[in-house]
Amino acid sequence: MTATSSTKQPIILPGKDIVLDEDNPFEAMMSRFDFAAEQLNLDPGLYRILRHPDKQIIVSIPIQRDNGEIEVFTGYRVRYNAWRGTGKGGIRFDMAVTLDEVTALAAWMTWKCALVNIPFGGSKGGVVCDPTTLSDGELERLTRRYTSQIIETLGPESDVPAPDVNTNERVMAWIMDTYSMHKRHTVTAVVTGKPIEMGGSLGRREATGRGCMIMARDAMRVRGIPVEGARVAIQGFGNVGSVTATLLAELGCRIVAIGDKSTALYNADGIDVVDAVNWVEHHRYLSGYPAAEVIPGPDLLTVDCDVLIPAALENVITKRNASDIRARIIIEGANGPTTPNADKILDDAGVFVVPDILANAGGVTVSYFEWVQDRGGYFWDLKTVNSRLEKIMVDSFREVTTMAEQHSVNLRIASYMLAIERVAAVHRLRGLYA
Ligand code: NAD
Repeated sequence: MTATSSTKQPIILPGKDIVLDEDNPFEAMMSRFDFAAEQLNLDPGLYRILRHPDKQIIVSIPIQRDNGEIEVFTGYRVRYNAWRGTGKGGIRFDMAVTLDEVTALAAWMTWKCALVNIPFGGSKGGVVCDPTTLSDGELERLTRRYTSQIIETLGPESDVPAPDVNTNERVMAWIMDTYSMHKRHTVTAVVTGKPIEMGGSLGRREATGRGCMIMARDAMRVRGIPVEGARVAIQGFGNVGSVTATLLAELGCRIVAIGDKSTALYNADGIDVVDAVNWVEHHRYLSGYPAAEVIPGPDLLTVDCDVLIPAALENVITKRNASDIRARIIIEGANGPTTPNADKILDDAGVFVVPDILANAGGVTVSYFEWVQDRGGYFWDLKTVNSRLEKIMVDSFREVTTMAEQHSVNLRIASYMLAIERVAAVHRLRGLYA
């Protein structure tokens, strides 16, 4: 079934008061979109177009469970905007997946890809399920049936998935194989985040953390904080948090606090990140790591440090704790860690916030590299991947800071303004096909 419009009808026009639930990270994101659109004096017609998804697909996914019973799951794929190029965005398997959430995440991808100026639009997908209750065989059948149900929208030129919450390289391999079987030839570029052996890119796993490191380094330069010895606190020690911590430690920063779901740790002299990563490899979580003091989880965000990197969850910096934050720079590794009310408090306190759509865009940038390599059939070495990532992140940071200065707005609004303007420019050039 293909729906033609969002279930959440936008009724807001630029210049009008916006009443949104700030604790909903997706509404919070769209409130930034509205504010940036107003700053740009965006034409109301274009505003209406950009407030709607291109396409929303809802599918039923029947699979046979291992006990022989048939169960039917619900899946979504939303292509929010593909005017700048192929829709790009992950697929999540989670009980909390809703059409509204998938739509908002697809919009988020649209702005993120435009901001780093890669030729992609934004998409997102999801299946309402609890993957921990599915056997490997059930998960594979679910993935393949979902892929076949949305196959018309997928393709290297139209819509390219990637891993997201509870999906991984293996799920991408099943999607790629299912798509290729339907097409009767191997199509590597239909997904990114694949295993290296079947067309994945070197450097993809570390790309988001590497991008965060580059943003932290450049923000410190702008703010006149010496990188050598800078004190850094990081919430989340998974893919993004641990890679960012490792790379910043290599630059000479002192990682004074780290934390994950299990614990939060502090050591004023600096935590040995390689040792901590090694601990997590053997014990799954940081809990029990001996070479640091255990602190209450919420305190990790307010420890005395120069750079704070939320790299775990959304909505962790709110009006309730923003005024207690002592860091002078925040690099948003996670998506949506800061609420709009907290933005205001941080702005007033002069905290330099590098927003999520810029700070964590390294991942989608190397996904773009993977797609380019697959389509060209020619694979780059790690040095090439990293130096091209570096260039895109550095250029994007410079463009955002310039925009912020020109319009006297913070980096978040500047990022949205740049992204929206890029998408809007393509709409103006292409016109409206009737
Ligand atoms: P991950 O699952 O590898 O790691 C998440 C980390 O957060 C884990 O260490 C986990 O223990 C920790 N965590 C979970 N709940 C917590 C809590 N209540 N308090 C403190 N820590 C908690 O995930 P990831 O890929 O590192 O993603 C982290 C964030 O970055 C997410 O918001 C994700 O959307 C965003 N992001 C990731 C990528 C990517 O390429 N991986 C790209 C863009 C954005």
